[in-house]
Amino acid sequence: MLQDQDRIFTNLYGMHDRTLDGAKKRGHWDGTAKIIQNGRDWIIDQMKASGLRGRGGAGFPTGLKWSFMPKESDGRPSYLVVNADESEPGTCKDREIMRNDPHTLIEGCLIASFAMQANACYIYIRGEYIREKEALQAAIDEAYDAGLLGKNAAGSGWDFDLYLHHGAGAYICGEETALIESLEGKKGMPRMKPPFPAGAGLYGCPTTVNNVESIAVVPTILRRGPEWFAGFGRQNNAGTKLFAISGHVNNPCVVEEAMSISFEELIEKHCGGIRGGWDNLKAVIPGGSSVPCVRGENMRDAIMDFDYLRGELGSGLGTAAVIVMDQSTDIIKAIWRLSKFYKHESCGQCTPCREGTGWMMRVMDRLVKGEADEEEIDMLWDVTKQVEGHTICALGDAAAWPIQGLIRNFRDEIEDRIKAQKSGKMSAVAAE
Ligand code: SF4
Repeated sequence: MLQDQDRIFTNLYGMHDRTLDGAKKRGHWDGTAKIIQNGRDWIIDQMKASGLRGRGGAGFPTGLKWSFMPKESDGRPSYLVVNADESEPGTCKDREIMRNDPHTLIEGCLIASFAMQANACYIYIRGEYIREKEALQAAIDEAYDAGLLGKNAAGSGWDFDLYLHHGAGAYICGEETALIESLEGKKGMPRMKPPFPAGAGLYGCPTTVNNVESIAVVPTILRRGPEWFAGFGRQNNAGTKLFAISGHVNNPCVVEEAMSISFEELIEKHCGGIRGGWDNLKAVIPGGSSVPCVRGENMRDAIMDFDYLRGELGSGLGTAAVIVMDQSTDIIKAIWRLSKFYKHESCGQCTPCREGTGWMMRVMDRLVKGEADEEEIDMLWDVTKQVEGHTICALGDAAAWPIQGLIRNFRDEIEDRIKAQKSGKMSAVAAE
């Protein structure tokens, strides 16, 4: 279990002073100018050595991503954009940073922006996060008043402005290019890639989009050294990580833990166990709603990191939003609900997603009631394969994968329900 002295987020639960004074007492904003004066190459090398992989879901190496930004400006400014749109169902970790430990993020914005030679950074926060926006803006104002932002930020010699932009509540604006479009004042619709944001992003300028947690951990990594951070977790899955555990556990929570902790330890140590005991565990969605669900019995020994969940279980760590479902769950209905969500949030720009999400949801409608033929399960699988990988952005995959997880892991349950419906014994298997 992660020791308290190794926690990056020391005020995750808002128990301590979240103002600048409190943050400084907990070690934030300590030697920021010195870190910056080590130069951009040093910072990027340290980040690469730390092994940090993006915390927004995709897990792309952060230092490498930063190195894609131009070393010399061609006259265009560079930008850092922080994705605080946190809208993936089940995911509720970045909000705790923003409302309780906002200076970790603000200091990270300054250092990361310097490393990418950006004099301006935009934090794009989701529309529903009203209190988080207020807390973060208050912290930004405090930082300006203290000279930590603005001209010669924190005495580093680097001029830096930080803007907080409030979104309007569309899930798709969490996709980095849709977020950029929205920030420019347009409809939040994903762009085709290439060009990638590092070449042409915000206002056509070089841009890096990073998740809140990815940026907020940067100052502590640089202060304590990349070896310290890389010392947690397995090879290629380094660091500490915020896990957000919801659903049928005794104590749902957000907690910072070492990467590669076992699922059992995570649940036992921090969540008070599974509701009704381990035999009552039915399924887990280990990384936010877009990753495939896993059968409960396969999760108990699972290692909570990118490579294990993908390689061994065909699922993913995603945002590390762990959704636990016990035997009382109608798993078909649970996945149907996700299908409905993705259909609603499709921006409609590309045909496989616009039509496919509706098509998949309507078949799921009938599977919930058992009003389908068994061959339709294979047809539904085929449709998910036609959507997956054939769309402009990852929402198509996100809509397809939960259904694939359902069919792969709970096909027997779907078939039982269809049989029960046909034989008139529906009440034995369905929640409705
Ligand atoms: Fe829009 Fe869906 Fe296409 Fe993404 S995959 S661009 S959300 S229609």
